[in-house]
Amino acid sequence: MSVITVKDLDLKNKRVLVRVDFNVPLKEGKITDDTRMQRALPTLKYILEQEGASLIVMSHLGRPSEEREPQFSMKQLEAHLAEIAGVPVTTAPDCVGAEVEAMAAGLKAGEILLLENTRYHNAEKKNDPAFAEQMAKLADVYVNDAFGAAHRAHASTEGITKYLPSCAGFLMEKECMFFDKVLEAPEKPFVAIIGGAKVSSKIEVLESLIDKCNTFVIGGGMAYTFLKVQGYEIGNSLFEEEFMDTAKTFLANAEKAGVEVILPMDHVVADKFAEDADAVSVDEINIPAGMLAMDVGPKTIAAVKDRIAAAKTVVWNGPMGVFEFDKFAKGTAEVASFVADCAGTTVVGGGDSVAAVNKFKLADKIDHVSTGGGASLEYLEGKALPGVVALRK
Ligand code: AMP
Repeated sequence: MSVITVKDLDLKNKRVLVRVDFNVPLKEGKITDDTRMQRALPTLKYILEQEGASLIVMSHLGRPSEEREPQFSMKQLEAHLAEIAGVPVTTAPDCVGAEVEAMAAGLKAGEILLLENTRYHNAEKKNDPAFAEQMAKLADVYVNDAFGAAHRAHASTEGITKYLPSCAGFLMEKECMFFDKVLEAPEKPFVAIIGGAKVSSKIEVLESLIDKCNTFVIGGGMAYTFLKVQGYEIGNSLFEEEFMDTAKTFLANAEKAGVEVILPMDHVVADKFAEDADAVSVDEINIPAGMLAMDVGPKTIAAVKDRIAAAKTVVWNGPMGVFEFDKFAKGTAEVASFVADCAGTTVVGGGDSVAAVNKFKLADKIDHVSTGGGASLEYLEGKALPGVVALRK
């Protein structure tokens, strides 16, 4: 099901309020990575090009309290936004209230009013309807381009859609388009590569994809709970005892559904979890006592390579090993390069696999690298994202 976009609504002479994810990293008031701002730029520019349209931009930034600590002020983004958008930007003293309403009413076409941090109000996270209604008073149309915040039902992402005609920006549209494509009508073979530290944070993704995909590749620390329930020795590798039954049930359900599950069949291990630990190859499934798995080995990598090469759809969430340490990054680096080379539709979501793809400079060879860690995870879990529901056609 697709979403209503800025192209579906008439924005001529309208005041348009856009929720973006400008939660950028800052150091001493300076932006250290403006990727999130750049990603929203096509939507902002499109709105500014509509005849007579004026633009109000809002976002959260960090985790401030109602004390309004200045290190979370949106004012710090004003100059950079003006530079990349190429239009004058004024920062409002707040995101609601009479003074801001007057500023919005006086806004000229082709200008941007940047609202102050939405999280300076506790009402934002509480999705307080009165607060959402106050925000809605500022504009004629609401656009949500903040995929990274779409899994949260906040006033600026969900509440406000009850009071204004609402649609998605281009970034939100692209995110929804790719996730809908792989979840609703994936071309087969569909390979899901799920890694990362914990079974607990990924099990819902595994369960949700069981009747959709042909092959699961399970790597990273979470794989060792699955190996343990199969009776293998895992040494000191990551292990979640309370998820043993869940892992067992998942493996049984996958078998029943005829879904292949590839778990690590060889490993790179160490005697301690440390960057300077010696990397030791283990050429079998069992891991020696006292050692812990840090990465997958070459046999596992070769098996994964074949599946990805043949896939028409690949979804990847979570690294295959401790890729932050160079000695243990090979499995993740190789998987990233196979996904980049895959001719099918490739989607990477989740903070750490996105970080890996960026680390290995492969992002532009992947069809879609999601901008939302939590949001992409919940999408893959089959959950309806509150910030997306109201934008559906
Ligand atoms: P997640 O946020 O659940 O996707 O987990 C990502 C983290 O899992 C990364 O920081 C990896 O270093 C870590 N990780 C991957 N493989 C392992 C492993 N075998 N043992 C411990 N941690 C791992």
